[in-house]
Amino acid sequence: MEFSWSNEEENFRLEVREFLDEHWDAGMLPEGPNVDNDAAKNYVRNFKRKLAEKGWLTMSWPEEYGGQGASYVQQMIFREEGAIVDAPVGGGGEQILAPAIMLNGTEEQKKEYLVPMTTGEVLWSQGYSEPGAGSDLASLQTRAVKDGDGYIINGQKVWNGAHRGDMIHTLVRTDPDAPKHRGISYMMIDLAAKGVSINPLWHMNGLGRFNEVFFEDVRVPLSNRIGEENRGWYIAVTSLDFERSGIHLIIGIQGVYEKLLNFLASSKSNEIGIDSARLKKIYRRLSETTVELEVARLLSYRITSMQSAGIVPNYESSMAKCLGSELGQFHARRAINAVGLYGQLLKNSKYSILNGEIPNSYMYTVSRTIAGGTSEIQRNIIATRGLGLPRS
Ligand SMILES: Cc1cc2nc3c(=O)[nH]c(=O)nc-3n(C[C@H](O)[C@H](O)[C@H](O)COP(=O)(O)OP(=O)(O)OC[C@H]3O[C@@H](n4cnc5c(N)ncnc54)[C@H](O)[C@@H]3O)c2cc1C
Repeated sequence: MEFSWSNEEENFRLEVREFLDEHWDAGMLPEGPNVDNDAAKNYVRNFKRKLAEKGWLTMSWPEEYGGQGASYVQQMIFREEGAIVDAPVGGGGEQILAPAIMLNGTEEQKKEYLVPMTTGEVLWSQGYSEPGAGSDLASLQTRAVKDGDGYIINGQKVWNGAHRGDMIHTLVRTDPDAPKHRGISYMMIDLAAKGVSINPLWHMNGLGRFNEVFFEDVRVPLSNRIGEENRGWYIAVTSLDFERSGIHLIIGIQGVYEKLLNFLASSKSNEIGIDSARLKKIYRRLSETTVELEVARLLSYRITSMQSAGIVPNYESSMAKCLGSELGQFHARRAINAVGLYGQLLKNSKYSILNGEIPNSYMYTVSRTIAGGTSEIQRNIIATRGLGLPRS
């Protein structure tokens, strides 16, 4: 068993770190009801263009489609470094839609959609979920009705990043009479098309945004459907998103954790009334976080190592997702308990510490156990596919 990085991997990590240091500043992305969101979108677009110039935006793609055929370890290092500075180094377009097009798209679709993805010209958002279809995605109701050389689309999607996208890749119902998995088609829709409207939904910490997207008689050409009509479900589940190590979840916790440790080790902790007896108790609890983070990190690395050996991870991804996202919540709670009431103050308070990152993390990590499949769904997968227990 080899736990160390090769020189090449270490050098790559340094190169990515330096690049991000020079080209990315998460502070340029303030989101809020009164913020210029176009400015943030353009900042992301420019950053993605720079990534594209390095070939990193689509580094995992096969070379024939303009990728670098990068190893899984390289991809993981890239994601890990990106997560440290909260940079958008992965995206639904490059990771989910692109494989769907590569495997099921026409030659015209490959030319029209893959090339602008490699250059970062067109940004995509993923529009699968609906108000009544999340865990049970196949219950989706957004309807597409064939009309001449196109489809007319009506319905609603929710919880997506459409405000940062030019296009949305989505699933729509094309046959309402078929069994639910067999009446769905995979569709690409221009977010600027007539009849599309996007409403913001703000994260509870006020610092992030989702959207609900409404389609009202939106006309979409037939050529925007990927694969056969009514086969969209199978395309969605087989469009291989191989980067699922969950490493970003661990890194998200690590950032706040390290800042908290530095704070506690400085004289500032004494200023907020933490004496040495209390500090000892806090350290004892935080040492648990150290162990847990290490376990979660190794679980993530295991996924990458399986992929490198040509094995497709299955319930192992669910284990990493479940542990990483739940640890985020445990740790945020631990951090608040460590610093008491100061841990509840947002950065607009003159008494806040660590720029209000602790309460932000507390509020933000709630969504981590929901996004990308809830903890209950991950546990179902671990139980049935991992432990071999019967479905109940
Ligand atoms: C931060 C964030 C980002 C997201 N980004 C996107 C995006 O870009 N695009 C997109 O399309 N969607 C996105 N989503 C939506 C996400 O995929 C769904 O929220 C998620 O799949 C859960 O679906 P739901 O919200 O409809 O909850 P539901 O499926 O209604 O679940 C409600 C509760 O019931 C439980 N439950 C449901 N079914 C079962 C079952 N079979 N067994 C046990 N318990 C069950 C769930 O675990 C949950 O606790 C995002 C969500 C979040 C929080």
